[in-house]
Amino acid sequence: MDSHSSSRAPGDGPDAVWSERLGREALFALDVVREAVHLTAAIQDETAGGTITKADASPVTIADFAVQALVAARLARDFPDDALVAEEDATVLRQPSVGGLRARVASMVRRAVPEASTEQVLDWIDRGGGIGPRFWVLDPIDGTKGLLQGRQYVVALALIVNGVVRVGVVGCPRLSVAGGQAGPPDRKATGGGGSALAVRDRGAWWLPTSGERVLLSVSARADPVHARVLWSYEEQHGDAGRASRALRALGSEEPPIRMDSQAKHVVLAAGEADVLWRFPQDRDFHDAIWDCAAGALLIEEAGGRVTDLAGRALDFTAGRRLLRNHGFLASNGMLHEAALAAVQRHDSTFDL
Ligand code: AMP
Ligand code: MG
Repeated sequence: MDSHSSSRAPGDGPDAVWSERLGREALFALDVVREAVHLTAAIQDETAGGTITKADASPVTIADFAVQALVAARLARDFPDDALVAEEDATVLRQPSVGGLRARVASMVRRAVPEASTEQVLDWIDRGGGIGPRFWVLDPIDGTKGLLQGRQYVVALALIVNGVVRVGVVGCPRLSVAGGQAGPPDRKATGGGGSALAVRDRGAWWLPTSGERVLLSVSARADPVHARVLWSYEEQHGDAGRASRALRALGSEEPPIRMDSQAKHVVLAAGEADVLWRFPQDRDFHDAIWDCAAGALLIEEAGGRVTDLAGRALDFTAGRRLLRNHGFLASNGMLHEAALAAVQRHDSTFDL
C-alpha cells in the first residue's frame, strides 16, 4: 500500500474547467474513442447473438474495419486536413469475394453514421495510410485475441505533431481503475470499463464508464524486489526468454502480470504496476506506432518514464513503425535505471 503516491487525488476540478483546459483535439479523441468502444460492444452483441454466422466475418475483423472507418469519418468531419495512420486498409474489403464482410462492416458503421455509403466506408478505411508533420494514429482494436477470448482489449488513438505525442486516448471496455488504482493485477477482464486520456503537459485521467474522473499517477515503488512487471499475454508477441531473464536480473519477487493491449499502459499509469517491457523476438522487429503512442503519453503524463530497451527516447518520426528503436520499456520513473540495467545485463543484444 506504500506505492500509490496520489491514487486518491481528485480528478482535477469541475468538468467545465477541466475540459476547457484540454483543447479541442483531446475532447474529439475522447468522444470518438467512446463512440468506437460502443461500436465494438454492438458488434460483439450481434455476433454473440448469432446474427453473424459466416467464417469470414469474425467480430474482430468487422470491428477493426468498422472502428477505423468511424474514426476516419469523424476526422474528415472535424479535422479534415489531418492525416491518419492506422493498421488496416480496404484492399481486402474491395474484393468481390468478401461481399458479406463488406456489407456487415458498412452496416455497423451506419449505426454511427447513418448516411454513409459502402463506397464511402471503404474510402474512409483507406485514409489510414497518411503520414505528415501532424497526424493521428489509431489501433482500432488493440488486443484482438483478448477481445475474442474474454481478456483485455482497447481502442487506442493518439495525435502526433512534429514527432511529439500531444494527445492519447485508450478506451478500455473491460478494465476497472478504481480511485486511480487498477484493481488486483491478475483480475479477470470483468471491469466496468472506461477511457484513459492524456494531454501533453496537462496530465492524465481515467474516466470510468460510471463514476468519478480520477487523476492517473504512477506508483512510488522504488525497490526492485517489489517491482510488479507487465508484459504481453501472448507469448509470441515477444521474446519470453529475454523477458524472464530481465525479471530475474531486476530481482523482482513479484509474479509478472501478463495482459493484452495498451490496457497494460493504463495499469502502469494508474500505479497498479511499476514496469512494462516488450522484447522483440528479433533485431529486425519494430513495434508499430499505434501499439504504443497513446499508452506512452499516458505513462509520461502520469509521472512515469518511457524509452526503448536501450534507454533511447521513442522516435515517432520514423514512419509507421519505431524503426529507430529497439523494444519498449516504461516504468514509474523511480525503477527505470534499475530496469534498464536489468534488461541489458544478461542480454547479448546489447553486446555490440
Ligand atoms: P500486446 O497485447 O501487448 O502483445 O500487443 C498487441 C499487439 O502486438 C498487436 O496489436 C499487434 O500489433 C502486435 N503484434 C502482433 N504480432 C506481434 C509479434 N510477433 N511481435 C510483437 N508484436 C506483435
Ligand atoms: Mg495493436
